Amino acid sequence: MEGEKMNEELEKKVFRGRIKVPYKHTAGAYVEKFITEIGKNNKIMGVRCPKCSKVFVPPKMICFKCFEKMEEWVEVGNQGVIKGFTVISHSTPVLPLKPPFAYGIITLDGADTDFVHIINESDPKKLKVGMRVEAVFKEKPRKRILDIEYFKLI
Ligand SMILES: [Zn+2]
Repeated sequence: MEGEKMNEELEKKVFRGRIKVPYKHTAGAYVEKFITEIGKNNKIMGVRCPKCSKVFVPPKMICFKCFEKMEEWVEVGNQGVIKGFTVISHSTPVLPLKPPFAYGIITLDGADTDFVHIINESDPKKLKVGMRVEAVFKEKPRKRILDIEYFKLI
């Protein structure tokens, strides 16, 4: 009884709210180059590890397996394979597209790591792991990852 009364008092002290915190952060040299190549040249670039030869897309400065610094830039394909996906069916104000669409885990041709991006398919029931997709580049790039507007089934 005493415990229930205490819980009631605690419930009354719960405060719910939202805090909006504007922020900026620098993309860093590697992401800057990655985004610039997408927007200017419609090229998707990765970096190759000098020790294990794995190609990382998006590019990272250090190989997470070997801890080697990676400086060899390589162009990978603008097509790849779906490794996994989740279908978005409910609309919220922050989504880049009107649902339904999917967020996919994509391995681009020539890359050894996965890349998460939008798969724009109005009938997500068609999507299957192993299907091939191709990047659709934005006509007017804005130096954002959404300069690849989405991937489409091919
Ligand atoms: Zn490595």
